[in-house]
Amino acid sequence: MNRFIISMCFVTLFFLAGCSTSNKNIVYQTSTIDALIAGVFDGDISLTMLASHGNFGIGTFDNLDGEMILLEGTFYQVKADGKIYQPTNTMETPFATVCNFNPDNQFNIPSGSTIQMVEDLINEKAPNQNLFYAIKIEGTFKNIKTRSVPEQKKPYPPLSEVTKTQPEFNMENISGTIVGFRCPAFVKGINVPGYHLHFISKDHRQGGHILGLEISSAVAQLDVLDQYVLQLPTDGEAFAKTDLSKDRSSELNRVEKEKQQ
Ligand code: ZN
Repeated sequence: MNRFIISMCFVTLFFLAGCSTSNKNIVYQTSTIDALIAGVFDGDISLTMLASHGNFGIGTFDNLDGEMILLEGTFYQVKADGKIYQPTNTMETPFATVCNFNPDNQFNIPSGSTIQMVEDLINEKAPNQNLFYAIKIEGTFKNIKTRSVPEQKKPYPPLSEVTKTQPEFNMENISGTIVGFRCPAFVKGINVPGYHLHFISKDHRQGGHILGLEISSAVAQLDVLDQYVLQLPTDGEAFAKTDLSKDRSSELNRVEKEKQQ
């Protein structure tokens, strides 16, 4: 009998250990960045469903209606007016990347650092370029430049057409949190290789997709992620009919990294 109880305990322990390790370091993504670039803006999964895969992440909303930030389990929607709205759980997303954020290391970012310096410092602290990293930076910023995207109507234009007139926002001496990821180069076509960062102010009123910044004082936390789950849209005709064999990397660079010309 005792032996039975002891072995049941081991079984339970193995089960619990298995659960925690297998759920801990997963990047969960819906659709592909190239589908979004091609104009597949119809939401495919609800925010409730997305939240079951993580409490931290970024993305966009149905009809490309703004930039998404998921922080500590709460979704925020930065619309084209630069203000933050609370989306409902039934809203859907055409593209998002999330994880359960469990930081593995933490470090300070020197005052005066630009976005390039922040990225260089993270590259130093996280030299393995072939893993995913979730990035959270809390601090005060001398300035931070973001953008959002306006809601689109069908027939949807390609994303590069939308970002030609993207609204951009300059915030100064503002506290808040950066939420994002560094993805490996081999996700080209599927997610954004390198850095993709969004911002939300401490008062949850402003934010967006980051184009530039200067740090006053900040602490960065990194979460190493070594499993990748890709959920593809199954009932959207647009995804089914989009030619995803093309190389869209120059378009990606235009829509994700560049300021409005
Ligand atoms: Zn973004």
